[in-house]
Parts: sequence; C-alpha cells; structure tokens
Amino acid sequence: MPIDITAYQRIRAEIPPHVTLVAVSKTKPIEDIQALYDLGQRDFGENYVQELVEKQAALPTDIRWHFIGHLQSNKVKYIAPFVHLIHGVDRASLLPEINKQAGKHGRTIDVLWQMHIAQEETKFGFDADELQAMIKTEAQTTYPQIHVRGMMGMASFTDNQTQVKQEFEYLKKQFDQLALQMPSNTNFDTLSMGMSGDYRLAIACGSTIIRVGSLLFGARQYSNPV
Ligand SMILES: *Cc1c(COP(=O)(O)O)cnc(C)c1O
Repeated sequence: MPIDITAYQRIRAEIPPHVTLVAVSKTKPIEDIQALYDLGQRDFGENYVQELVEKQAALPTDIRWHFIGHLQSNKVKYIAPFVHLIHGVDRASLLPEINKQAGKHGRTIDVLWQMHIAQEETKFGFDADELQAMIKTEAQTTYPQIHVRGMMGMASFTDNQTQVKQEFEYLKKQFDQLALQMPSNTNFDTLSMGMSGDYRLAIACGSTIIRVGSLLFGARQYSNPV
C-alpha cells in the first residue's frame, strides 16, 4: 500500500510549529520511507532495533531516527552511533549502558522517560514515585553522556476520548512538575504523546512530539512466525 500523501500534507498543515511529527515506519518498506522523505519528512520512528539499523544504513543520512520501542540493554550498542532520540527509557538500569555506548561514539544521547499512564498493565514505563527517584539520579549527574529531554507516554487503547484526555492531562501535569525539579541546565522541554487516533487531542493537551504511523503508511500487517 502506498503512503497517504493527502493525510501527510493535512497533518503537516494542521500541527503547530512547536510540534514535531515523527513518522512511525515500523514494518514498512524502505521505499515508503524514501517517498515520505522526498516530500520533506525527516523524523522517523522505529520500534525494533534490527529493523532500525537496516533502514538507517539504506536511507539518507540526514534522517533523524527516533527509537520508540522497548529497548533491551544489550541492543543499545547498535543504535548508539546514530539514534536521534530514545523515547522509551522505562527503567533506570538502561542508563549506564546508554551512557557507556554514547561515550564510545563521542556523543550525548537525548532520551525521554516513559511514564505509564494507560490502564493496561502491558504498557511499559515509570510511575510517579519512580520518576521522583529518577530526578534524584539526574541531580547527581551520574550520566554525563545522556541528556534527559522530557517524557513519553501512551494512552489506553480505547475509543473513550474522555479517558484518553485524562491520561494525557495527567502526563502533562507530571511533565510540568518534573520540569520544575530538573537541574536548571537541562532542556526538559519535550513531551512525546499522541498517535494516529489521538494526536489532535494530545497536541491540545500539550504534546510537542506526535508519533503517527498508520495514518501515513496504512495499517500494519504483521506476518505470522513460520
Ligand atoms: C506503533 C506505534 C505508534 C504509531 O501508532 P499508529 O496508531 O499507527 O499511529 C506510536 N507510538 C508507538 C510507541 C508505537 O509503538
């Protein structure tokens, strides 16, 4: 299925300038990404390390690659040379490895703390108390190669817009509170929330990055394992 150029142009036109559109290209072929790139899109998001590494090698070098999936420590090394922003830092134990691999490449890596805001148990992320503990680590500047830029969250998978709105508002509130507690030299200014079904609501609630997949690339088909 080709990319939806009309949807792309509509979204670009409607989002305010302070909001970044990340085109979520997981499971989609190189040609589709290139087609969107040719229309001017530069921020792309992937969930799987191996897929991201293969696409990065095959596509233009000025693409900003966002890792939006659940990251395993032993795979950080594959994306450390080039990743633009890691959205899903959902446990403290990832940080030493990101710090180490960033250092090896002489980089500082930008990350977001993922907060658990959905009702589903299966979604990853910190709760409010755990984030308070993270702030303390941050204040000790234990990880000089990591730059915490803000937070990411995923709302419940539901048609209930009232509930989704409450979850986004909760995340925004946590984000604002943590921003006040961050050391003053940090640019804690990035809030990644909103997907194909709820990006307008997310922007209204204060999102600065929306992660949109199926609206641009069509529904995803996952092949069954053989
Ligand atoms: C797949 C995915 C998206 C995009 O979802 P759509 O509903 O297709 O827009 C956004 N964020 C994360 C973390 C994802 O895994």
